[in-house]
Amino acid sequence: MYKNCTESDLEFDQHHIWHPYTSLLNPLPCYSVKEAAGVHLTLESGEQLIDGMSSWWAAVHGYNHPQLNNALREQSERMSHVMFGGLTHKPAIELCKRLVAMTPEPLDAVFLADSGSVSVEVAIKMALQYQVSRGTSHKNKLLTIRSGYHGDTFAAMSVCDPVNGMHGLFKGVLPEHIFADAPLLSPSDEWDESDIQSFKQHLEEQHASIAAVILEPVVQGAGGMRFYHPMYLKRVRELCTEFDVLLIADEIATGFGRTGKLFACEHAEVTPDIMCVGKALSGGYMTLAATIASRDIAEVIGRGPGGGALMHGPTFMGNPLACAVASASLDIIATGQWKLQVSAIAEQLARELAPCEALDSVHQVRCFGAIGVVEMKEALDVAKTQKLLVKAGVWIRPFGRLLYVMPPYIISSAELSQLTAAMFDVCCHAENLS
Ligand SMILES: *Cc1c(COP(=O)(O)O)cnc(C)c1O
Repeated sequence: MYKNCTESDLEFDQHHIWHPYTSLLNPLPCYSVKEAAGVHLTLESGEQLIDGMSSWWAAVHGYNHPQLNNALREQSERMSHVMFGGLTHKPAIELCKRLVAMTPEPLDAVFLADSGSVSVEVAIKMALQYQVSRGTSHKNKLLTIRSGYHGDTFAAMSVCDPVNGMHGLFKGVLPEHIFADAPLLSPSDEWDESDIQSFKQHLEEQHASIAAVILEPVVQGAGGMRFYHPMYLKRVRELCTEFDVLLIADEIATGFGRTGKLFACEHAEVTPDIMCVGKALSGGYMTLAATIASRDIAEVIGRGPGGGALMHGPTFMGNPLACAVASASLDIIATGQWKLQVSAIAEQLARELAPCEALDSVHQVRCFGAIGVVEMKEALDVAKTQKLLVKAGVWIRPFGRLLYVMPPYIISSAELSQLTAAMFDVCCHAENLS
């Protein structure tokens, strides 16, 4: 039986529950959601908001989706969870079959992780264990690019942007890796080799100590919502091969169609040695991610010390509920409908956000795939901006100077217009919102 969320519940929340990146001494206001269906979140107050965030890239098919609900219900009536050590099951096998089939050819060894950050930890562990296993343990550093985001656990944090990635706070504890300058050219710029210089120089000088390169292909998400030139990624792949360094592509935000390709690596026609997926993997229903490695990596690790075991194994690894709903989500992806949906969203975002750029408060508008970003000149006050957006009937969460949307693929053109109109409105009133 549904129980309403009361004022005192909300008070409890403010005093006792940490929300993402918040202080318990100075909590930000939170809106209580009663239910969600399609592209709508319904607040306790009854207000309906059009969702512009897909719950952080995840809910690509919208909420309360009948096919996903069914998969979850049916699986829950059979078995919700069993340990994955020594046991296996159809939901995990079905999901991994789909992942092996969807990802480029050499990627065929799947590790099921319980969150994106964990899948990044596992990718890093695989890369390091690979180097140890083939007798090149001196290759134990990671090379990445600035403005990246790879998650909040320690290994993942160590390759996030060193300035906005909390490196100062944890100095002395975080492993120190190597950072190349962030790419400057955007996908629509004319390619210029100077963009890759910093990266190339780091590899030339330090490849003997580098195990792997890790980056987000083409779209840098939470580290700054930046889009870079696919040629940059192409060069990265060539240089990794030349200098005998593994390439880890973090497709956690970009995977499953968001950028207009099934995986963002396809924009540069490159194949990584290890790929991380998460977020939209389960259609936003359950926490689930995966690290998919090439056969070669799996074999080298398999011949290595310690009996060749990959040393990782979360309690909830391969959770059947999460696997079942993820397979159902990938079946929707497999229909290919996302291609038309994403390209229509992309075209409309570019057209309807363009007028923002003429406003004094706006530094830059950039769009790529079904992602629209307005970078302001001044940081937006989250609470004030959110209030205005909720009043406009939309759910968009600003972040620093960034106001951005990555809506569910199923959003209608009219609903998307409501999102872009609300963003324009924020830009018009920015002086009251900083
Ligand atoms: C969100 C994200 C992660 C972390 O995933 P969690 O499920 O939040 O741990 C890692 N990499 C990228 C690119 C992401 O967008």
